[in-house]
Amino acid sequence: MRIAVLTSGGDSAGMNAAVRAVVKQAIVRGCETYIVREGYEGLVRGNLEANDNGTANGANNDQSGVCTPPRPEDQGVEANLRFGYGGLLRDGEGDSTDPTSGKSLKGRYIVRVGWDDVRGWMGEGGTIIGTARCAAFRTIEGRTTAAHNLIKEGINALVVCGGDGSLTGADKLRAEWPQLVADLLSKGSITAEQAEMYKHLMIVGLVGSIDNDMAMTDLTIGAPTALHRICESMDNISSTASSHSRAFVIEVMGRYCGWLALMAGVSGGADFVFIPECPPTADSWEDEMCAVIKRHREMGKRKTMVIVAEGAHDKNLNPIKPDKVKDILRERLSLDTRVTTLGHTQRGGRPCAYDRVLPTLQGVEAVNALLESTPETPSYMIGIHENKISRVPLVEAVQQTQAVATAISNKDFATATRLRDPEFKEAFDGFLTVSSLDPVYILPKEKHLRIAIMHIGAPAGGMNAATRAAARYCLAHGHTPLAVQNGFTGLMDDAIYPLTWLKVDSWMTRGGSELGTNRNVPGEDIGNIASHLQKHDIDGLFMIGGFEAFEALLELEEGRKYYPQLHIPLVHLPATLSNNVPVTEFSLGSDTSLNALVDACDAIRQSASASRNRVFVVETQGGMCGYLATMGALATGAVIVYTPEVGMNLHMLRSDSKFLQRRYELDEKGKAEGRLVIKSEKASNVFSVDVITKILREEGGKLFDARYASLGHTLQGGIPSPIDRARAVRLSLKCMAFIEEHAWALRDQPAKGRKPNPKSAAVITITGSSVNLTPVKEMVEHADMKNRRGVDPWWADYKQLAEILGSKNYFAGKL
Ligand code: ATP
Repeated sequence: MRIAVLTSGGDSAGMNAAVRAVVKQAIVRGCETYIVREGYEGLVRGNLEANDNGTANGANNDQSGVCTPPRPEDQGVEANLRFGYGGLLRDGEGDSTDPTSGKSLKGRYIVRVGWDDVRGWMGEGGTIIGTARCAAFRTIEGRTTAAHNLIKEGINALVVCGGDGSLTGADKLRAEWPQLVADLLSKGSITAEQAEMYKHLMIVGLVGSIDNDMAMTDLTIGAPTALHRICESMDNISSTASSHSRAFVIEVMGRYCGWLALMAGVSGGADFVFIPECPPTADSWEDEMCAVIKRHREMGKRKTMVIVAEGAHDKNLNPIKPDKVKDILRERLSLDTRVTTLGHTQRGGRPCAYDRVLPTLQGVEAVNALLESTPETPSYMIGIHENKISRVPLVEAVQQTQAVATAISNKDFATATRLRDPEFKEAFDGFLTVSSLDPVYILPKEKHLRIAIMHIGAPAGGMNAATRAAARYCLAHGHTPLAVQNGFTGLMDDAIYPLTWLKVDSWMTRGGSELGTNRNVPGEDIGNIASHLQKHDIDGLFMIGGFEAFEALLELEEGRKYYPQLHIPLVHLPATLSNNVPVTEFSLGSDTSLNALVDACDAIRQSASASRNRVFVVETQGGMCGYLATMGALATGAVIVYTPEVGMNLHMLRSDSKFLQRRYELDEKGKAEGRLVIKSEKASNVFSVDVITKILREEGGKLFDARYASLGHTLQGGIPSPIDRARAVRLSLKCMAFIEEHAWALRDQPAKGRKPNPKSAAVITITGSSVNLTPVKEMVEHADMKNRRGVDPWWADYKQLAEILGSKNYFAGKL
């Protein structure tokens, strides 16, 4: 297959990672790869100039447009390694020259690329190959020209990365393809042989859109990075708002989709959000907003933040604009109010970790889907559903996306919200719970509970956000949230105090642990702990932490046999950068740490590349779990990753150093780049980063040098990532509802002879898109207690994928 990839519509962070993955996976699978510059515009313009020898950019067309067989020199590993156009495209596209022929690349839009053309693309924002909105492609004439250009280049498969418009265009092209080919043949633009050879075009879509507005996928490429940008701005605005006691109205992108605004509201700790799917329910949105903000101010808040989505409106579809919101806040509440429109800053910048991993996995799947396509299969859109990369019929996804806009325009907001993924509604309800001070939510006195919250283990991003959400939930319902300082030690020292609504207000964005944390588990103190729970009249215990918290929960559950005080609901919310708690796919803090790792590796790689031929061995934390190292390798383009699960030996090191030697030999002179090797701290006790680095330096000789960096505690990250914050809120609220349910059930039992319910000692786990409270006893069979990690981790295969895309497995096998 000859596969071309293009990016279209608005740019989004992660598009480059998608192009990189498509190019690499296509080469791995034995295809020739092309990029189309400037989206559909490039497809319509095609390659205006043909070379003297009838070959443009390694493609096989002559002046008459008849395809000639591939040239031997364009085939094989060496050709696939470096076709040599990528760097030139970036430097000054129009004026660049083809290094083989010396011809100008000006006017060439469909360009053969090789493995090395896409190196270093992972960390770049926007789209290097360019994007455009192309009016011509909307016409049949434009699409006919595009088809002709594809046939001239011998391309029979296309990956389109863009929004719903771009994917609609892609589907149209495929649906019309037989007709377009017939028209080209009848006009004499192509030969009968070409018409036969290119009678089918395979197309796959990737969704690049910062709005996260596509149906049938949980996330789109670029949306998480845009959320990062918004939260960074909100965090910055927050300090100045607080200093001057100001209100800020922040406008974020999202014409038909409020995902960005809602998630920003949740993770940024906003006071009010306006989104198209869920407009204020009151007849006057002004009254509703002012009532909420007035209560917040009366509580003592010094700052106010209101998020307005671009497409916000009231329930009668009258637009709600930031300036109007500002006027209302000024006039009715006398707040010194400013408007900040974030605009294009939301699109820009380096992709966050998720926007490297997701497009990489999706790009690989896109190529696999193309290779498995038949003329009968529909064009697929590659999405993500339940944390698994999915294929869905492209037309259906586009139709369902358009159905949301239709529902909104019909004022059918319930349908619009339902058509988004289930998390959307949950996030909106969660936002109302943590920001509301409306007395209507207060429960009758007999239902009130005293809920203790503690942190256990190492700090992890999102612990404080989870505590804030739990405290706010409690206060909204009339319960008493009690902070236990310094884990079980603090409980035994009576270091317990009630949390207030205002006290936790700024905790959303704080890293570390506001409550104080340590690795102590109950052990022999279990009786003492039970009596202190009783002393403080605790109705439920909420533990936020890593593997230690899991062990603590197991001990407490076991201790219920002897201590009836432990019959209360006990819940563990996994929070650890190691992501090693069994069953759950994501623990709080794992996303923050992955981003910290990506940031550090980008800087290290830059330094390594500046020295041209340096290998950096980077050591990560993670205990006996290789999650962080593996996902870090996938997100940074590291060429080798060592994990505790797979371990290390001499044979491995020998073949890896041979691979690196060969790889550096193949680099073009003067263009060798820095490469990363990631080692999880416990991958080997013998081969430390120091030893590995010395071996590589020795073996590298004149080809490459080696250095190491140990990232240590920096990986705990500073400010928690928006994904960790949003996850913290979602999970924490579910834990509180769980505690309520079981605590009330316990109260309903007669005091004498109360039996503990094994279900009431649980860990909150994420599997796919479902969140479950899994009884701790059921977790044990999925745990490797000795190595302190889960068995069968979902990410295990990604080590090999990272190394394939890092070229190790592919080229090492072939050279
Ligand atoms: P974003 O979400 O950033 O707006 P998008 O892909 O939806 O991205 P559009 O401007 O709608 O952006 O579409 C991008 C390009 O896709 C258009 O300029 C046009 O070339 C092509 N396209 C869009 N809709 C169609 C269509 N119905 N038929 C043919 N081509 C289309």
